[in-house]
Amino acid sequence: MISVNGDIKKYVIIGNGTAAAGCIEGIRKNDANGDITVISEEKHHVYSRPLISYYLEGKTDTERMLYRGADFYEKNGCKVYYGVKASGITSAVDGNGYTVALSDGRSIKAEKICVCTGSRPFVPPFEGLGSVVNKFSFMTLDDALGLEKALNELSEGVKKPSVLIVGAGLIGLKCAEGIYEKAGKITVCDLADRVLSSILDAENASIVEGKLRERRIDFLLGNSVKKFSAGEALMNDGSIVKFDVLVLAVGVRANSEIVKNAGGNVNRGIIVDTRMRTSLPDVYAAGDCAEGYDSSIGSNRVLAILPNAYMQGFTAGVNISGGDAVFDNAIPMNSIGFFGFHIMTAGSYDDVCFCENRDGAVRKFFVKDGLLKGFMLIGSEERAGIYTSLIREKVPLDSVSSDFAHNIASNYIFSAEIRRKRLGGAV
Ligand SMILES: Cc1cc2nc3c(=O)[nH]c(=O)nc-3n(C[C@H](O)[C@H](O)[C@H](O)COP(=O)(O)OP(=O)(O)OC[C@H]3O[C@@H](n4cnc5c(N)ncnc54)[C@H](O)[C@@H]3O)c2cc1C
Repeated sequence: MISVNGDIKKYVIIGNGTAAAGCIEGIRKNDANGDITVISEEKHHVYSRPLISYYLEGKTDTERMLYRGADFYEKNGCKVYYGVKASGITSAVDGNGYTVALSDGRSIKAEKICVCTGSRPFVPPFEGLGSVVNKFSFMTLDDALGLEKALNELSEGVKKPSVLIVGAGLIGLKCAEGIYEKAGKITVCDLADRVLSSILDAENASIVEGKLRERRIDFLLGNSVKKFSAGEALMNDGSIVKFDVLVLAVGVRANSEIVKNAGGNVNRGIIVDTRMRTSLPDVYAAGDCAEGYDSSIGSNRVLAILPNAYMQGFTAGVNISGGDAVFDNAIPMNSIGFFGFHIMTAGSYDDVCFCENRDGAVRKFFVKDGLLKGFMLIGSEERAGIYTSLIREKVPLDSVSSDFAHNIASNYIFSAEIRRKRLGGAV
């Protein structure tokens, strides 16, 4: 595809994660020749971020963590700047597109930009944090490599190092699982009164907590660190936790500044429409940095999950290169495993709840206005795909098999006819 000024189109993708990979593939759907430049702060080929805990467990290695094959950029004709940050975007002086400033002092021209900068760990200003020597976040492959090195080095002493993880959300708990074999005592604390508080209710959270406690992971909930001093944390309740290694997994913040500083609209993330356009002309955004449409609530919010990052990136790529794609059925979804115990959640937890407790699994379904709005499946992922389609496609429950509660209990939500029609007889 040739741009208006007769040149090959110049795309710049800022960031090099899943959303960026989706964007490259979206562009190449329409434009085989456009010039794609990727600015990658991390020095790594695109990898699957959720696998960093599996890396620590020894279940994968850096080669198998690649999100796309080693020849991905070459095959797609992309130039990648590794270990460089885009520090700002400004309208080009000649009025044609943008200039992207890089942290190493260089700058590059862009006609179209897709911002795929993800998020960064939020680190609260804990008193005494500076005195902690071995402290880590748990977001990147380099975090995992650094944590592994510290645990290995400390293990050369008499005993395995004890670890304090601040944050009992997905990232903190995946870290606990990842370091389980390498660490001695693991303590996880959180100001919230339960684990995975953003996706689980108290009942289900306590089941998950119990499963982790069985693995000698200790929890201090409704409690957090008041003050650090070398090797110990004074907790809000006055207790003291001694540790060799600290992991901070308190939360994340969208990397949205690049658009904000250029005058674009930003809230908790970069505000995008269902075509991933920002408020700046020819600037798109995708993934964890973006606040896109969530069909489960009918408004925008950051949905920091991998499938969303890919779909947003792909949609942006198609549109940025002259095609027309809309991504308007995103919903929150989480599929997580801890030591083989599975949790799947999706949608919102509105209105009437149908609950079933069977065979060691708890299934909760939330129904509003005749539609399935959300679910929590604890200890089972059975038929999660079907339930997710019901939410995503807003299928009226009276169009599926007769009594919903009965059908939930018997796990046959779809009538045979609907199953054939909607799922091609796949179930
Ligand atoms: C431990 C962990 C476990 C997870 N588990 C799951 C899971 O089970 N399921 C799930 O769906 N999701 C999971 N996630 C979330 C998922 O990994 C993210 O939603 C996804 O990786 C987001 O992709 P992204 O491309 O938007 O951002 P990222 O993958 O974060 O990529 C953004 C990249 O942009 C770079 N960057 C930032 N600013 C700049 C700049 N100015 N210039 C150049 N480069 C820049 C960053 O360094 C980064 O490399 C997990 C995340 C973590 C940390």
